[in-house]
Amino acid sequence: MASAELIKRLEDTIENIPDFPIPGIQFKDISPIFLDPKLYEDVIADLAAKSKGKVDAVCGIESRGYLFGIAIAVALEVPFILIRKAGKLPPPVISEKYDLEYGSATIETREGQIKPGQRVLIHDDLLATGGTTEAAAKLVEKQGATVSQFSFLIGLKGLNGDEKLKKFGAEVYHILEY
Ligand code: AMP
Repeated sequence: MASAELIKRLEDTIENIPDFPIPGIQFKDISPIFLDPKLYEDVIADLAAKSKGKVDAVCGIESRGYLFGIAIAVALEVPFILIRKAGKLPPPVISEKYDLEYGSATIETREGQIKPGQRVLIHDDLLATGGTTEAAAKLVEKQGATVSQFSFLIGLKGLNGDEKLKKFGAEVYHILEY
């Protein structure tokens, strides 16, 4: 659990944009965090402390998962692996297809960057329905590694994201919940 002080500073900083990008969505804009280097540093310290000694690699989900994921990996002195939307990474890649509300999407990693047996932290800025994160976890398992933790800045309540991730048996951590 993050300190009440860090939670308050984040709540005061993250902006809620109603009806973006479509009506009914309360968009959480994390970009003001980067205007405050000390806050950014404290967020990384909190997320890294949660995973210290428990993970061998960090996977970040494109694109906002990179903004914190790389810094967490550097703080933990473990490798960082990019999970990207299909078609962005050069071959050879490992892919995982998943369903969206309408249609489907595919995510990929470079083959060989995740090593069998590794304990992996999957990080993204926000957990909503958990669909993207679930696909990322399957992608990690396909490569013989284990997801040992999921971390997010924000978890959205009522969308059952946590439920969807339960089957991986990994710890789910978010600093803030809305
Ligand atoms: P999901 O697969 O539904 O858990 O969606 C998670 C991804 O969508 C994350 O990478 C978020 O960056 C983005 N996302 C979903 N809902 C929101 C929201 N309300 N505000 C900001 N980003 C969101």
